[in-house]
Amino acid sequence: MYRKLALYINGEFIESDGREQTAVVNPATGETIGHLPVATTHDLDAALAAAQRAFSSWRKSSPLERAAILRKVGELSRSRAREIGRNITLDEGKPLDEAIVEVTSCSEHADWHAEECRRIYGRVIPARDPAIHQFVSREPVGVCAAFSPWNFPYNQAIRKVAAAIGAGCTIILKGPEEAPSAVMAIAEMFDEAGLPPGVLNVVWGNPAHISEYLIRSPIVRKISFTGSVQVGKALAALAGAHMKRATLELGGHSPVLVFEDADVEAAAAMLARFKVRNAGQVCVSPTRFYVQEKAYERFLAKFTDVMCSVKVGNGLEAGTEMGPLANARRVPAMQRFVDDAVARGGQILGGGGASAAQASQGNFFNPTVVTGLPDDSLLMSEEPFGPIAPVVRFRDADEVIARANSLPFGLSSYVFTGSLKTAHKVSGALEAGMVNINHFGSGRAETPFGGVKDSGIGSEGGTESFDGYLVTKFVTQI
Ligand code: NAD
Repeated sequence: MYRKLALYINGEFIESDGREQTAVVNPATGETIGHLPVATTHDLDAALAAAQRAFSSWRKSSPLERAAILRKVGELSRSRAREIGRNITLDEGKPLDEAIVEVTSCSEHADWHAEECRRIYGRVIPARDPAIHQFVSREPVGVCAAFSPWNFPYNQAIRKVAAAIGAGCTIILKGPEEAPSAVMAIAEMFDEAGLPPGVLNVVWGNPAHISEYLIRSPIVRKISFTGSVQVGKALAALAGAHMKRATLELGGHSPVLVFEDADVEAAAAMLARFKVRNAGQVCVSPTRFYVQEKAYERFLAKFTDVMCSVKVGNGLEAGTEMGPLANARRVPAMQRFVDDAVARGGQILGGGGASAAQASQGNFFNPTVVTGLPDDSLLMSEEPFGPIAPVVRFRDADEVIARANSLPFGLSSYVFTGSLKTAHKVSGALEAGMVNINHFGSGRAETPFGGVKDSGIGSEGGTESFDGYLVTKFVTQI
């Protein structure tokens, strides 16, 4: 049913072999589907040594060699998308079609980095003395430690691995223990594609222990983390204490601004579908819905209608549009938002929890719409990371821009308007790493993905992707 799980160190897959193991649970059924070996300190040291050894030759590898391996992984990913997707549905819970699309669309990160790694250019500086030759080159930073989360287990891991390997770095990846299958598949595909031993290593275990051990190691020169703001800040502080570079893709609380001159019903339907993708467990999920007064009732009616018609169930069953939450702790986390909303005078227009039958099977929580909330309520100010959406009114552009920018987050944002002038004004004013106007267009391999303010540092994807994995060297020669 479910795939085999292992550590991957120095080109070898290492099964539990007496090590401690953690259980992998299907969130739609509560069944244990696999066991994951926990890396010992000896394993972590072996991964560090392997990555350091491999870096001495991989840093000098031809970009053509790196590109060939990345391209091969892109091809293998597409050919295995169904099998990888099925395992993602089993350990993470999202509907099978969504899981397969995650693999096929995000295999483009392997293709993109294969192309871009051939274009890591330096530059020649016109020296002030004609006898002097001055140039700038960009070199791989060294051994990287990466920590990828459970919500998009293939997507979040392949981005980090492709960027590190394409840049000429080596990498130790700690994947998500709760949804490990996609990272295992990535390791297998790089192995088959001919990646030299030690360039990629995969470890599992206690996240806090492993991250601290790796970040403190003098061998590691750079970290990359995707996850919550709280953990991101702790890892950034540790990285700072040891002067390590960091790429951090953290939480968001994406505002949605729907102006009355937009195609309001179409926007409502699109946004409701987008909101329930991966049960709302998406860092760029639309989160605070501000709708201009005259459009409010029309938007709310359509939005609630679509949200409440979503078919919730086991992601392997045909017709399922939204699966369970990925892990059991997310259910009380959602309930906390609902309880606070009710206490603050909000109205729950649909969802609000799960039926007894759903709850007896897995971590289900139905799509929920909330109205009448003040801006300082929990749902309007903390990241829900689930299928729950507050809808509130606004009067004009200046007011809604101020409210949209009022939180410490700055990841994605969404604007729906028929006016070019409004689109221009709002996109310039929003404090966000990504602004989507009248459609959803971020997260592609060729576009930079990242946040500002508490939402993180650096970009993954786009021509910016390698910036976090390269250091600048200036050479002056007479
Ligand atoms: P969490 O903060 O405990 O964990 C989030 C992720 O970070 C997990 O993958 C976890 O394994 C990892 N992690 C936790 N502590 C770590 C540490 N000390 N070192 C290294 N990795 C560590 O929260 P959770 O309950 O798993 O998820 C809920 C919250 O996490 C959400 O509210 C959301 O903000 C955030 N999250 C964000 C993303 C994203 O794409 N930005 C992805 C997953 C989770």
